[in-house]
Amino acid sequence: MEKRETEVFDVAVIGGGAAGLFAGCFLKKAGASFVILERTDEAGKKLLLTGHGRCNITNRKAAEDPRRYYREAGSFIYRALSRFTPEDTIRFIEDELHVPLKEEEDGRMFPVSDSSRTIRDALVAYIGSENILTGFDCTDIDEGFTVTSAGGRSIRCKKLIIAAGGRSYPGTGSDGSSYQLAKKQGHTVTPLFPALTSVTVSEEDRELTSSLSGVSVNAGASLYVDSKKKAGGTGDVLFTHKGLSGPVIYELSREIPRDVVSRDGWIELDFTPGRTDEEVDAELLESMKAHTDSKLTTLASQYVPSSVASALGKRAGVTDIYAGRCDRRSRKELIRALKHLGLKIAEPPPFETAYVTRGGVALRELRRKSMESKIAGGLYLIGEYIDVDGASGGYNLQACISEAFIAVDDIMS
Ligand SMILES: Cc1cc2nc3c(=O)[nH]c(=O)nc-3n(C[C@H](O)[C@H](O)[C@H](O)COP(=O)(O)OP(=O)(O)OC[C@H]3O[C@@H](n4cnc5c(N)ncnc54)[C@H](O)[C@@H]3O)c2cc1C
Repeated sequence: MEKRETEVFDVAVIGGGAAGLFAGCFLKKAGASFVILERTDEAGKKLLLTGHGRCNITNRKAAEDPRRYYREAGSFIYRALSRFTPEDTIRFIEDELHVPLKEEEDGRMFPVSDSSRTIRDALVAYIGSENILTGFDCTDIDEGFTVTSAGGRSIRCKKLIIAAGGRSYPGTGSDGSSYQLAKKQGHTVTPLFPALTSVTVSEEDRELTSSLSGVSVNAGASLYVDSKKKAGGTGDVLFTHKGLSGPVIYELSREIPRDVVSRDGWIELDFTPGRTDEEVDAELLESMKAHTDSKLTTLASQYVPSSVASALGKRAGVTDIYAGRCDRRSRKELIRALKHLGLKIAEPPPFETAYVTRGGVALRELRRKSMESKIAGGLYLIGEYIDVDGASGGYNLQACISEAFIAVDDIMS
């Protein structure tokens, strides 16, 4: 795009990520004079990484149960999701962007091309690259609005949308530094936490997780801090060289406090979720009676893959014990490993690997029907920049899209 530093627009959008690009599409459709200001050399860098490069653009279930998928932000985001639903997103992408989508398990929607580039490029083409000013790092906003870049360039606009992203994956351009823009407008930024990320466990526990690296099991996972359960869920848990990953661990990660190292924080895995210790104990006792010549670890593999059973047997100190010679203590140790495997959290998860940021501009300072600031009229805040983080599965992009829609709709009305 050509130099347009003194130009005046109806609307400027700070940030050319998913939220900013969709806002650009809706502005374009409405015939507005607008510009997207992007600090990096390319719009939609994070979008290209989404869904392992395939872009899980939305989820058909997103508007069904916002409290489940957006937790504390559920009641806030509900308004946006019901105004511009996942079905509206699908229609817009297929009919306006001409990108066919397909549905996979759990309502997840992807482009048929299996490439996030298709979506990013279609967004940019729809908006028109002449309306996207890259290399424009907004450092200041003055009344009215005048937006100034690090290089001293400025543009003026009547309405301003900030869609500058959170703090996670800073290499994509959103590193948290832009929260100062909202703060300068009088907004509060709630504490930021990495969310949807894997967890590194203590060196001692890494021996177990690395021996099982790449193995995925269905398990209950609970987060404990100072002996209090903070969160829990059931789903696939993936063992890694450094600790634990997988959907259920991702969901827990947002609850890990930054000072977890100075506190006692651990993740407890339950490989027989839905059954009590007593039930599993009785079952195991039964199999021990029936198979006296079997090793305890062999019997444990009725619950978990045999590699996990042997790792748990090692942890319980029952590797070489046969059912016929097993005492009560050994059986209890095995049950403990099967149902209460505690793995100490070694460090707070880093923002560098978190898919999203929990926290951001405080929701109480925004109008939920339009995303307009209650503090600065004419200013709209959308996307990961605000205190909304969704579950994994297309929920985060859908939130960005719905928010972008209601903001633009309000601006143009
Ligand atoms: C690896 C990965 C995979 C993911 N997969 C999925 C998925 O499949 N489905 C899903 O729903 N969600 C997914 N997410 C989450 C989703 O990508 C984000 O929630 C979403 O992209 C946030 O969009 P945003 O526009 O709010 O912020 P961002 O995409 O972070 O965009 C913000 C933009 O603002 C720019 N910017 C920041 N400050 C300034 C400034 N001062 N001046 C100018 N420009 C600025 C940044 O450079 C950036 O381009 C994934 C995230 C990651 C990291």
